[in-house]
Amino acid sequence: MPETVFDVDVDAPPEEQPSPIVNRWHPDVPPAATIEPGEKCRIECLDWTGNQVVNDDSANDIRDMRLDPNHHLSGPFRVEGAEPGDLLVVDILDLGPFPDNEWGFTGIFELDNGGGFLTDHFPNARKAIWDFDGVYTHSRHVPDVRFAGLSHPGILGTAPSHDLLEEWNEREQALIERGPEAETAVNHETREDQPPLALPPEPNEVLLGDMADDEVEEAAEKAARTIPPRENAGNCDIKNLSRGSRVYLPVFVEGANFITGDLHFSQGDGEITFCGAIEMAGFVDLKVDLIKNGMEKLDTDHAIFKPGNVEPQFSEYVVFEGYSVDEDGTQHYKNSTVGMRRACLDAIDYLKQFGYTGEQAYIILSTVPVESRIAGIVDLPNTCVTVSVPKEVFEFDIDPDELNGHSSDDRGEAANPS
Ligand code: ZN
Repeated sequence: MPETVFDVDVDAPPEEQPSPIVNRWHPDVPPAATIEPGEKCRIECLDWTGNQVVNDDSANDIRDMRLDPNHHLSGPFRVEGAEPGDLLVVDILDLGPFPDNEWGFTGIFELDNGGGFLTDHFPNARKAIWDFDGVYTHSRHVPDVRFAGLSHPGILGTAPSHDLLEEWNEREQALIERGPEAETAVNHETREDQPPLALPPEPNEVLLGDMADDEVEEAAEKAARTIPPRENAGNCDIKNLSRGSRVYLPVFVEGANFITGDLHFSQGDGEITFCGAIEMAGFVDLKVDLIKNGMEKLDTDHAIFKPGNVEPQFSEYVVFEGYSVDEDGTQHYKNSTVGMRRACLDAIDYLKQFGYTGEQAYIILSTVPVESRIAGIVDLPNTCVTVSVPKEVFEFDIDPDELNGHSSDDRGEAANPS
């Protein structure tokens, strides 16, 4: 087993972990450990909420979630010899849940506390607990679904430089100031209570590893949230970054200061419920290396990904199509977000015919390895987005031919607030 360079305790609060948790991007967070290029290491991770969700049948914890301290991540790790301009090469050797903690969760957040991609349609908190049997998972809250997960870290990335951090903050603040009408892709109608367009630095509940208290106060004003993906990869949520994957990350600071976490047992493309994958605590085994001056050699200032070749096999799909016309009939111009939403809503309506509630179907799309693609983006005025649901994850046949005269079974419901 590789040497463990970061320990967590799933029974302790984030502030009392054996290794100090980090929940923001900032160049000056002191490294939690140093890794040598070519060396393997094991990194333990809390689930992204930092133990806020419990294995029970109530969605109160999702409803009442404190969002400011998320994500709870492991690192930063200083890579010996890494300098700005290099590329950090990260091999994902293995990952999984802890052997004595083989479960995960999926949540639908409340509209006014986090929301999600389809929050207009599903505004209330729900939860599903998933149990793991080796590579397989199933949920008492989503019966008759059982599948092999496609496990991956939702977040991995290098620390930004001070200049890059400033650039992030400026461009995201500019979007916030332009306001909702600047975006056609947010929701089909502009609501008073619409979720924010971006999340500016939030000094509340900041954890910056071992940084001295007097420094944290100043850094917290600028430290970037970990919610969006950016140049450093970050919260990319690429479901295929599983065992055997290799990621090339630009190095912006001395030592690279690599951070990872937000482990997913499985996820569908889009991670649409937002607490969207099967979220878990666990370990990830990595090997790192450096390409000196790699940003110039590969002519990139972004991350590059090479997914591995160990994935569950699905051969048959039912495919749903969405295009740039929203639910009230408004025609949008080449809007892929609207297309994705329509394809997801169609898939949810379809699965409801087999006895699932809308919330259960929403959770299924978010967790099973659903393939979503932009099928066409040149056919004015619509983009065509497809959402492909693997048939093999269901313990019954979801083929359209089976719907002919189908009488729906009762498949229970996801956990409600109690
Ligand atoms: Zn996640």
